Amino acid sequence: MTPKPVLLRHRRTKIVATVGPASRDPAMLEQLIAAGVNVFRLNLSHGSQDEHRMNYGHIRAAAAAAGQHVAVLADLCGPKIRVGRFPGGQLVLTAGESLTITTRDVLGGPGLIPSQYHELARDVRPGDVILLDDGLLEMRVESTDGTDARCVVVAGGILKDRKGMNLPGVAVSSAALTEKDRADALFAVGLGVDYIALSFVRRPWDVTDLKSLIAEAGAVTPVIAKIEKPEAMDCIDEIIAEADGIMVARGDLGVEMPPETVPIVQRELVERCRLAFKPVIVATQMLESMITSPRPTRAEVSDVSTAVFEGADAVMLSAETAAGAYPLRAVQMMDRVARHTEQSQWLDGSFRSLTEHDKDLPVPLPVRIAVARSTAQLSRDLGVRSIVVRSQRGTSATVVSATRPAAPILGLTMDPIVARRMALFWGVVPRLIDADEFGRPEEAARRHVVEMGLAEAGQNILLLSGFGKDEPKLTVLTV
Ligand code: PGA
Ligand code: MN
Repeated sequence: MTPKPVLLRHRRTKIVATVGPASRDPAMLEQLIAAGVNVFRLNLSHGSQDEHRMNYGHIRAAAAAAGQHVAVLADLCGPKIRVGRFPGGQLVLTAGESLTITTRDVLGGPGLIPSQYHELARDVRPGDVILLDDGLLEMRVESTDGTDARCVVVAGGILKDRKGMNLPGVAVSSAALTEKDRADALFAVGLGVDYIALSFVRRPWDVTDLKSLIAEAGAVTPVIAKIEKPEAMDCIDEIIAEADGIMVARGDLGVEMPPETVPIVQRELVERCRLAFKPVIVATQMLESMITSPRPTRAEVSDVSTAVFEGADAVMLSAETAAGAYPLRAVQMMDRVARHTEQSQWLDGSFRSLTEHDKDLPVPLPVRIAVARSTAQLSRDLGVRSIVVRSQRGTSATVVSATRPAAPILGLTMDPIVARRMALFWGVVPRLIDADEFGRPEEAARRHVVEMGLAEAGQNILLLSGFGKDEPKLTVLTV
């Protein structure tokens, strides 16, 4: 019999869970944090600001009760195109049937689908494909005029109120930041969320617009660019450079482009983010069947494991925790899959390191990046128990994290906001210290690794400090 593997104490891959009716009760939030949620997502596509404000308060209270640094990510709806409403809440579409999509503000009905997206009839051309409800239903455009598009149904089914509409290959003219998004972004900044995600990013300046809005509100909330439009891939490095992180938003991405291309895009995005020292979240349908079933499919388990093997910073649950029947089991399952995969990587001698990209890195590297890479190597060579990083804004922690070292990273900061941001970074254990300790890093490092159970007396650790000034100091300490 093979012995039961001893799992790593600190899971390196972080878990993002979407909050909704299935998970918003304070007691459930506490259980989800205990089960390993690092970041909660407020999905502003659904629910009122009052509901999100209440959920936000409950998350903060649950995290405080658990003594954990948990981040909150507010996810803006973006220019998601939706159908309107129908009498009785749904409409049956039959293959071969002709119907009209109208941008007039009307109730739908047989042969008529309303949509709030006013440019629709001007953006599409005869022959274009329109997908409904995540691609389950399909229509082809026959003709258009100013407000209406005449279509024929290619794949029929039941269309419910407010389902999403995707126009693959169509250059949608609406801005990435809608009026609702602007209002929601200011609301989220006012709440004090730790990250704001922007949907349907197509160009770097989509991110810039949101960053300007946040700055005008006097905040520095980091922005996560959701990659769910194929156009984004044409300028992906510029988008990554402008954003503070990326989400591989596979739900819409897999409708906007052929689903068989999504795994390749995912792999590439994870890789490129890590080369840019930015966090990357792999999202959507990871344990989809657990919305209704207590156990995932083997394919879903494999999907989570693949994201971990690829070196994603975080894996995300959407409807599984927002509206599913088994929110807690979904988080527990994700935790177990990540830990088992990480254990196997660890036993193999390395997490997906960056060394294979040596040829892509321009020499001379910035000092701190070179030092971070050497730190990862040194942590392996010395078999240290922990890498302690002093971080004032969180950047030092992301840089070290992106090298995917073998030892867990203890991120020491004086700022509770930075501690929460670190909750998203691969392998980083956030820890709040006071100004006095910040000034005496060696003492603080020794004390906190022991308190966090990362190392014992006599064991070696690495301490990195001075990153912000680009004069990093790397010290080997014995606890
Ligand atoms: P959503 O984004 O859940 O807000 O649609 C994620 C995705 O499209 O995968
Ligand atoms: Mn989406």
